[in-house]
Amino acid sequence: MQYEITKEKSAEYLRQAIQHMSMQDAAFHPVSYAVWYEYSSGEHAHLIDEVNSLIEKEKKLNEKSTAQLFNKHIASLDADSAQDIVDRFNHVVSDISASTEKAGQDTSHFSKTLDAWSGELQQLDGEVSRHMVGLLSETANIQQSMQTLQHQLTTSLHEITDLKNEIIKAKQEAISDGLTGLMNRRGFDVTLKHSLESASDFEDTCLIIGDIDFFKRVNDSYGHLFGDKVIQAVARIMKTVSGDLYTAARYGGEEFVLLLPHTPLETAREVAETIRRHVANISIKNNVTSKLISNITISLGVTAYQAGETAESFLNRADQALYTSKAKGRNQVTLIADELAAA
Ligand code: GH3
Ligand code: MG
Ligand code: MG
Repeated sequence: MQYEITKEKSAEYLRQAIQHMSMQDAAFHPVSYAVWYEYSSGEHAHLIDEVNSLIEKEKKLNEKSTAQLFNKHIASLDADSAQDIVDRFNHVVSDISASTEKAGQDTSHFSKTLDAWSGELQQLDGEVSRHMVGLLSETANIQQSMQTLQHQLTTSLHEITDLKNEIIKAKQEAISDGLTGLMNRRGFDVTLKHSLESASDFEDTCLIIGDIDFFKRVNDSYGHLFGDKVIQAVARIMKTVSGDLYTAARYGGEEFVLLLPHTPLETAREVAETIRRHVANISIKNNVTSKLISNITISLGVTAYQAGETAESFLNRADQALYTSKAKGRNQVTLIADELAAA
């Protein structure tokens, strides 16, 4: 979905969206707002056709049909676009909320003034007095509707806050690994891309790839649950070693990566060596036999970014270094300084 449109246009869609929303049975909330905003922008032919035929058949959209339209046409959006919708709706509601509050205060003030007058009016000519009483009750009605609207808007604002938090949580979950809490491959690929895109950042950017040795054997000997514990223990080491300086991720089953910005290759090698040593010291109790298992090892590959290369070739070179560590007997660190060395 594209939101690169002028402010005036967007304000016009917004106005139309609110007008459409106010004519439906579904309440004002980000989901119905998103449907009607998209409808008003005229960009979603399928959505427009379906809305039109639903309105023709059922006159109004209710909660269910609105939610179905949202899921079918809009929920496939990426998280950023969904966030954008919520932000826009939040602004709209805040604006309306502020202006109705002001209007509410104005009518309340007006009503008080009229109240004060009404006593005096009793003594006046009967016709004028009757008009004034009518006006008073009219004002009371407006005040009542203002209060109701105010209440609805406050509820909407709470719903928006909840929705915002859910989106933040969903965004976070989409890039983290459930077993270890580390970033997952998807998150790491985005981080790596961003890091390489910012030109000043690829000075001394290094990458470490580590893969637990003979992990299939660990699973086969002690069971899958034990294997999971080993993965978690290695992840803890990656986390500790990374601190705030580096980005660690679980890149695959028993494979880990570490991105080290502003780090010379020699320092990266030392970091990889530290990881290797810590993993070799892991000791986990086998719950079946109650024995401590401590023969876990990891092989690692280290390389530095070469200006102009793609993230893929950067990763490939680190992988080649890892492969060399495996081929040379595992439980070791291999460093490939540049592409020539890799060839
Ligand atoms: P190498 O030293 O060459 O890396 O040998 P390996 O046995 O570690 O490598 P291989 O790729 O043959 O086996 C990896 C195993 O990791 C196979 C797979 O079942 C296991 N694995 C992958 N993900 C998980 C997981 O989440 N938990 C557990 N327990 N095992 C996993
Ligand atoms: Mg592997
Ligand atoms: Mg392995």
